[in-house]
Formats: sequence, structure tokens, C-alpha cells
Amino acid sequence: MLVEKATASLIALEKVGKAYEQPSGQPVVILEPMDLCLKPGEIVALLGPSGSGKSTLMRIIAGLIPPSQGQVMYHGQPLVGLNPGVAIVFQSFALYPWLTVLENVELGLKAKGEPLGPRREKALKMIDVIGLDGFENAYPKELSGGMRQRVGFARALAVEPELLCMDEPFSALDVLTAENLRFELLDLWLERRIPTRAILIVTHGIEEALTLADRVIVLGRNPGRIRADFPVTLPHYRDRKSSDFQSLVDQVYKILTNPEAPAEPPTLAASNTTSVATPATPAPAKYQSLPGVRIGSIAGLLELLEDRQGDLYRLAQELLMEVDDMLPLVEAAQMMDLVNLREGDITLTRIGLEFSASGIDERKRIIRQQLLEHIRLVQQIYRLLQAKRHQRVSEELILDLLEGHFTPKEAYRQFKTAVDWGRYAELYGYDEPAGEVFLEAAPTLETPVVT
Ligand code: ADP
Ligand code: MG
Repeated sequence: MLVEKATASLIALEKVGKAYEQPSGQPVVILEPMDLCLKPGEIVALLGPSGSGKSTLMRIIAGLIPPSQGQVMYHGQPLVGLNPGVAIVFQSFALYPWLTVLENVELGLKAKGEPLGPRREKALKMIDVIGLDGFENAYPKELSGGMRQRVGFARALAVEPELLCMDEPFSALDVLTAENLRFELLDLWLERRIPTRAILIVTHGIEEALTLADRVIVLGRNPGRIRADFPVTLPHYRDRKSSDFQSLVDQVYKILTNPEAPAEPPTLAASNTTSVATPATPAPAKYQSLPGVRIGSIAGLLELLEDRQGDLYRLAQELLMEVDDMLPLVEAAQMMDLVNLREGDITLTRIGLEFSASGIDERKRIIRQQLLEHIRLVQQIYRLLQAKRHQRVSEELILDLLEGHFTPKEAYRQFKTAVDWGRYAELYGYDEPAGEVFLEAAPTLETPVVT
């Protein structure tokens, strides 16, 4: 459909790395040397936590900043200075308040030395395509956020860039506006109504990346590096509720929430609908991995959600938290069926609501119930304890059990988390000097539903 058959790359990074010198003179590595090739016909998403160097990488591709090693090849030639084939849409819109919509859109063309006649014509055409018709003479302050970002798009597209780069272009918009604009952009691209051969979008939204992109590159941080690079072969317009889509979301979510784990990209493409020939291999039964967060923090999240349901990204912003710091909390709350996460929106479940409306004793009871129902490691520890005559179990035994599924370091982390959660719920305690977990004096438990 939209795939141009050209295999030649538009832009190729060869061992491109970036380091900045600190005031002390010591270099700090922002991007590890990487190879990366952008081809015509694809929408590529650069997905990663804040600080993983997404913007830096995009700026290097655009020629706004030079790499400190390696080189950027543009049509087979080393790039020097600004990349003439790239235009950028910024999160902050970056419009000139004293210029009209039309004048703002003309800016890039003007910079390219386009004379007034054709410049105006191209700008007006793009204003029309992008849905700004009638606002040519308005000033940015008269426009809503969504309309301002349309100006950002029109300005970038008016120069007919080969590669349209967008740095979190929807994240300053409200959820509905963002959704609408995302969809319109995709529409324009799929119908080939915009003059661009490839799109690179920087995002930290998993669903945004998987909704738009034909290929997703996951960056990790400290230092910035490519952790995964995989195609998304689901046909556009993607049904976000489909199991294929959700499976991809889950897998990418796992990568992002396990920044230290080795990336496992090859399996990500497996859930596409086009590979009819490959028989479905049964997924290995995975041991549930607990995010290392405290129940107290989960409680904090639930309290905040009580009067502030909605988009996870916005919530994180409001709390001055990075989405990736919040993800483990959300994941833990989800595991315990305290929140629902759908299409980036987070809401309390009935049990979550009950939790946040309750006092401490009731909260402990709820967590106890949810742990025993949903958290396998807690169930296992609890059962072991009940089976033991002295109702004590050594830490080693539990670690042995865990090391069948995790590295020793991760096993220990899992153990600590299970101890923390079980303690909160007063299911069991932990005798650190003895290295033993012990059963709490039997609380009034209703029969746990253990599956
Ligand atoms: P992202 O867009 O993924 O959030 P950035 O590319 O903005 O990441 O930044 C990556 C890292 O590089 C951050 O830790 C940031 O502080 C650092 N950084 C970015 N620009 C500079 C600079 N000019 N000097 C020093 N450090 C920088
Ligand atoms: Mg950035």
C-alpha cells in the first residue's frame, strides 16, 4: 500500500554517538555509537523514557547538532550542517506570536529562499490540506492548542521535506485533540496527501508509537542506546482493542518497565497478522515479574486517581513524574486489579475505588485479598508458610524457587518486593537476622481465592 519499493536509505547513521563535556571537563555519554537507517515509505517511532536521548538523536538526524563521533549519511553523502531534507514539528509548537498563521507557515519556505509568489501558493495549499482554512490571518494566540500544532505541521510540511521529524508533537495537547490530530496525520500520510517520504516521530507513549509506526525503535537510557528495533506489520488503521495490538503493547511495556533486562525484540514481530506460514509456537509460561514498588506508593497513586482519572501521560506530568517512573506503580496496581489501563487512560477499578475510600485496616484487608488472588509469588510464600509446622520459611528456599526464573540479582529484588507487599498486608513478616519469612498471627482472613 504505502511501502515504496525503494530500498535505498534516506538517512543512515554510521556509528553515530554523542557526548557532552561537563563543566569539570569530563565527557558524559548521551548516545552510545549506533547504526540506524531510515528508509522511504516508513513511519518510524523513536520510543523511550525521558532522558534516553530521543530528542538528541532526532536533532542529529536533522543536522541541528553534530554527532561527536560517526557520521550521518544523507543520500549517501556525509551530512554537513542542517539536513536539507528534514523539517521538524516541535512539542511546544514554536510559533512566532507576532506572525500570522500564513506568515508562520511561510517561514521555512522563506528560509529556503523561495520567492513570495510560489511561497504563498505552497503555504496556502498546505494550510488547506492541514485543515487551517479560514485561519490564514489569525495570530497564534487566537488559536487553540490543536490549531496551533496544525500550524506547526503545515509549516514543516510546506517545505516538502523528505523526512518529517516530530518531537512529541501531540503531548502538549489534550487527549481528544491529540487523538484527532494523530488520526488526521495518519490519514494524510496513508492517502499520500502530504509531500513527505518518511516520518520519524519521537514519543514516550507506547500506544502512540504502535498506533502510528511501521517500525519502532526503543531507546534505553544511561547511556542512550537502541534496545530494540522491530517492525509493526499490523495494517493501518489499527484496532487498539485487538489482541494483536494489545500483545504488542504488553511486550513493549515489558521492555520499558525492565530497563536493565536484555531487550528481546525478535519476538515482538511475531504477533503480526501477515506471517500466515509460521505456526504459532506456544508461549512459554512466564513467571509473573513484580515491579519493585512499595504498597505505600501504590496507595498514593490510587488516592490521586480518585479525583483525577484520565490520561496517564497527563497525570504523570501533573505529578512531575516521568511516565517511566510511574509505569511500575501502574503495573503493580494493575496486577492487583486496582486500576484499569486502557488506551493510555487510567481509571480505578471497583476494588481500587473501595481501597482509596477506606481506612488503613480495610486497606490492608483489600490488599491481602488482592495479593492472594493475583500475585503468584505471594501465594506461593503464603502456602509454603501454611504447610510448614513452624510457619517459617528460609529466604534461601524462596530465592531458589525464584532463581529458576530470574537472575540472582533479580530474584532477590522479587523476593524483597514480595516481602514488602506481604508485610503490608500482614500476611507474613520477615525476620532479617534469621533470614526467614514467618506467618503473621493468623489475621481474620476470608478464604483466599487461590487459582
Ligand atoms: P529525551 O528527548 O529522550 O528526553 P534528550 O535527548 O533531551 O532526551 O536528552 C538526553 C540526555 O542528554 C539528558 O540526560 C539530557 O540532560 C542530556 N543533554 C541534552 N542536551 C544536552 C546538552 N546540551 N548538554 C549536556 N547534556 C545534554
Ligand atoms: Mg525529548
